[in-house]
Amino acid sequence: MVQAKSGRYDFDLFTIGAGSGGVAGSRRAASYGAKVGICESSRIGGTCVIRGCVPKKLLVYGAQVADEIADARGYGWDIQQASFSWPALISAKDREIDRLNGIYIKMLADAGVTTIEDEGRLVDAHTVAIGGRMVTAQNILIATGAHPVLPDTPGIEHAITSNEALDLKEFPKRVVIVGGGYIAVEFAGIFHTLGAQVTLVLRGDMVLRGFDQDVREHLTQEVTERGLRILTGTLVESIEKTADGLRAKLNNGQSLPCDQILYATGRLPNTRSLQLEGVGVKTGAKGEVLVDEWSRTSVPNIYALGDVTNRHNLTPVAIAEGRALAETLFHNNPTSFDPSNIPTAVFSQPPVGTVGLTEKQARDQGRPIDIYRSKFRPMHSTLSGRHDKTMMKLVVDRASDRVLGCHMVGADAAEITQGLAIALRCGATKAQFDKTVGIHPTAAEEFVTMRDKVAD
Ligand code: NDP
Repeated sequence: MVQAKSGRYDFDLFTIGAGSGGVAGSRRAASYGAKVGICESSRIGGTCVIRGCVPKKLLVYGAQVADEIADARGYGWDIQQASFSWPALISAKDREIDRLNGIYIKMLADAGVTTIEDEGRLVDAHTVAIGGRMVTAQNILIATGAHPVLPDTPGIEHAITSNEALDLKEFPKRVVIVGGGYIAVEFAGIFHTLGAQVTLVLRGDMVLRGFDQDVREHLTQEVTERGLRILTGTLVESIEKTADGLRAKLNNGQSLPCDQILYATGRLPNTRSLQLEGVGVKTGAKGEVLVDEWSRTSVPNIYALGDVTNRHNLTPVAIAEGRALAETLFHNNPTSFDPSNIPTAVFSQPPVGTVGLTEKQARDQGRPIDIYRSKFRPMHSTLSGRHDKTMMKLVVDRASDRVLGCHMVGADAAEITQGLAIALRCGATKAQFDKTVGIHPTAAEEFVTMRDKVAD
């Protein structure tokens, strides 16, 4: 049994929240000999594993099979009597999540981390209350994540969030989705590809605010062509239960009858029940824990990372922040997470991959840039008869020739962007992209064969 390095406390590190960041930081700290404890009020694994990235991606895979079946005829297959069972997909997904939950529990145990499955709150700078029990720690890590936020629209109690969407008993044939961020377009893709009639209701003028404008426009065009309905500049004013489902009343006077209304209108940090104020941990306007680049809060021995800090709300970032903290505290290796060039993907249909600066961000920095853009029909679509187009774009710094941003909408965008992220991290230039030999025939090779600049 590992002893706490400081004899005064039960633990060297106690983590509140066993999601991606909390688990990664705790395991790494324990691997350096620290005595570590962790508590979790829900299931071990957190948002990503239990009710986020992983189950969502499994449903995306399930939906893509529908496209593959539709494309099969062009490739000589005659598939008759294909039928889909939503409950079967949900049960298969649940079994996989149970398996991963078990792996997370085992990984913590194998690392020597003490796990307590209950809610934690701060009592003082070194004490956490968990259920009826108190534990003390030299360092405390807050990694409690975030939750979906719902506006107070009349009838909102009839709406669901991504949490419930992953566990619906019945497949909804008509779905209204409010919001235009990651979660909205991902679930729109899942339900629509599986055959539902989906309407995306945006208060703004386009999906994916903050992404490159060409990405936003191209994705809009592609999903619209597939039959997804997008209403822009529109608000849901109220939701009513009807004899055969629900009705969303819009501010333009229209009503949308549907089976489910999914709100994907953002997420807020889970800080409410932690009692941070009493201990002096400062929070921001959205309740996020304020931290410096070392993930240190306003109380020097209390740290926070991941979605609860509302910085870059992505699993791999939380993991990197957690590991950096363990390096700093327990490996005599001060490490802060470098937030530049974080790649990200949206698992919409078609998916989006992006790394580095958007064209607007680069222009806003006042630097002269060159833009390379390509739109083409992917080879897979030639025989399948699909009318989709892939879009790729490079943002290049004219003075240094460095590639500042890569953006893609099309099949395999996430897989392709991961490799490009390494190139950007290494400071690759456009000339180096051009010297790289393509892999033929792929879509990815287009990124190393773009020769013509878009006219200024
Ligand atoms: P986002 O913040 O990305 O998007 C919220 C959307 O809801 C925006 O389109 C916003 O519109 C709209 N909105 C906000 N409030 C209202 C309102 N009151 N009425 C109508 N529309 C509203 O949130 P998400 O919930 O989609 O995702 C949360 C975070 O989770 C993401 O930012 C991302 O970091 C992470 N995530 C990452 C994934 C991935 O990596 N693939 C997948 C899923 C989530 P407007 O644009 O006008 O502000």
